[in-house]
Amino acid sequence: MSAADVETKNQASWQDDAARDLVRNAGDRLAMFVRGEGSSLWDADGRRYLDFLAGIAVTSLGHAHPVFVEAVATQAATLAHVSNYFATPPQLALAATLKRLSGAGERGRVYFGNSGAEANEAAFKLARLHGGAERPRILALKNGFHGRTMGTLALTGKDYLQAPFLPMVPGVEFLDSTVEALEEALDDRVAALFVEPIKGEAGVVPLPDGYLAAARELTARHGALLIIDEIQTGAGRTGEWFGFQHAGIVPDAITLAKGIGGGFPIGALVTYGAAGDLFYPGTHGSTFGGNALATATSLAVLGEIERAGLVENARVRGEQLRAAIDAIGSTLVEGCRGQGLLVGVVLTAPVAGAVIAAAQEHGLIVNAANESTIRIAPALTIGDVEIDEFADLFARALATVQDALLLDDTTSEASA
Ligand SMILES: *Cc1c(COP(=O)(O)O)cnc(C)c1O
Repeated sequence: MSAADVETKNQASWQDDAARDLVRNAGDRLAMFVRGEGSSLWDADGRRYLDFLAGIAVTSLGHAHPVFVEAVATQAATLAHVSNYFATPPQLALAATLKRLSGAGERGRVYFGNSGAEANEAAFKLARLHGGAERPRILALKNGFHGRTMGTLALTGKDYLQAPFLPMVPGVEFLDSTVEALEEALDDRVAALFVEPIKGEAGVVPLPDGYLAAARELTARHGALLIIDEIQTGAGRTGEWFGFQHAGIVPDAITLAKGIGGGFPIGALVTYGAAGDLFYPGTHGSTFGGNALATATSLAVLGEIERAGLVENARVRGEQLRAAIDAIGSTLVEGCRGQGLLVGVVLTAPVAGAVIAAAQEHGLIVNAANESTIRIAPALTIGDVEIDEFADLFARALATVQDALLLDDTTSEASA
């Protein structure tokens, strides 16, 4: 099918095509989008939506940002790919930039892959290289999410995701997200602890206050690596370049993807200190990983985040967004979790599915992170105009669901 055919297809027929041609690994697609600009998306019928999900914290500059477009086009016309037998200038420049922004310093090292899962696969192998036979144990958190490849699924603390694919890669144990649980679990047979600063997929659930500082202290005492998954929280999203920086600690490694590419697939592992000496020639690799096209794009995206002060914007707009959600005063909203522009709106009833459907009806894209949490992760470029429009549309979506619930109540009372 040509691109022109896709664009002229009506809603019913693209749904049929998707149902017939795509593997059924996920639920039905909620819409088909044909174009984006800034925080706007347009579907095949020409209807506009306000995008407050940004492809799950990915399109940090919004859609079709001129800096992104220019970077892809220029690098594609210059040099796209040469394999990792060779270096390219954007790859080295991005590695240096990531070392600087993450505070990995002189001894820091960077490995490039193409996705979050690949970044975490590299981190898993780093943990094994560090642990060897003496340290077979790897710790991760219950309800955490680190990816869906066989290695990263083994790190993902959700039974229902693992169940169809057992047996898992061995050695991983899941802990409650408390300092006490960590203290109890750690010994000198642990190779690494994997944590997200905010569990995005679990429903935007932050670690308890003081957890990262305690985890740094305890893992160091036992000689285990502290590996922080910044795939969703990185690239300025939480109001710091990386989520762990709010805690003022230095990890042994962080993993990155999503927002650093602004929509171009890329993943990275950044190591600190001695952890950077663990990989040696032949221990890992990727054909596409770190190619010139991906790294030039990521370099431009990070450059624009820095130039335009978007890390600060994420902090300020995050506060403004929370205030706007509070001001709606909906009885369906209990409050907000998260930091900066990664916001979980906690609902008073398990109606997240109905809320996102109503939001889409009203022209707003947000996500149900679980049955009672709405995840909001807009582009880092948003300003007053986007927040005002969001507040209006979100209020309407909540009211629609509230009305439906009241109607349900009345109907069931009437029939009782
Ligand atoms: C999205 C995500 C991943 C997986 O990234 P993919 O690019 O989908 O493989 C891993 N960890 C966290 C915290 C994520 O949010």
